[in-house]
Amino acid sequence: MDENLNEMISDLKSYLEYLKGMGIHSIPASEIEVDKPGPSPVMTLEEVRKELGDCKRCKLHRARRTIVFGEGNESAKLMFIGEGPGYDEDVQGRPFVGRAGQLLTKIIQSINLPREEVYITNIVKCRPPQNRNPEPDEIQSCHPFLMKQIRVIQPKIICALGTFSAQTLLKTDTKITALRGRFYDLEGIKVIPTYHPAFLLRNPERKREVWEDMKKIAEWLNNHERIKESDSI
Ligand code: SF4
Repeated sequence: MDENLNEMISDLKSYLEYLKGMGIHSIPASEIEVDKPGPSPVMTLEEVRKELGDCKRCKLHRARRTIVFGEGNESAKLMFIGEGPGYDEDVQGRPFVGRAGQLLTKIIQSINLPREEVYITNIVKCRPPQNRNPEPDEIQSCHPFLMKQIRVIQPKIICALGTFSAQTLLKTDTKITALRGRFYDLEGIKVIPTYHPAFLLRNPERKREVWEDMKKIAEWLNNHERIKESDSI
């Protein structure tokens, strides 16, 4: 078979897979354009939130007060994904607003970005009782919605905060100490794991490593922007 045709078929397959991932199982024939440059977002965050509804897909719904969906810039270049809401987040319905959240805000500002510029969410959207670790079935139930958020936002970089976030996104059981500080790939998006701010509150001597990771993020984003600018000249 002709090489171009093979490529077109492969592009079409990826596009259909992408739509399937977004929950769309059929499209009118007129919308199939095999020469489209990659998939574009077909949902908004509001629509993803609407689809999540008053979610009872896992047992975490029983003790939660609010679903903490996430907040920030829908077109963020940088996305932070933590583990799950804690007490303050559950009360306020916003991610990372307690002590760990205040530290995260400082971490974001350390690379000259205002918090509103990034998008922040968690692996599970409901608070695990007594702040226990989220369990595999809970992570699995919530995962499709996290993936939809990522596909709508299409950030350049995801910073995975802590073990559960890094291991879930990278589908690995490697420890965070070994994962942190390197770039990995998730559907063409760079993922860099680092320590969770709550861990840093208990182990302030590890802040330096997070600072190193943040510098890598800033450097990548700056270089990327520079390349884009020189492309448009
Ligand atoms: S954690 Fe996620 S899947 Fe579980 S009830 Fe909350 S929103 Fe639904």
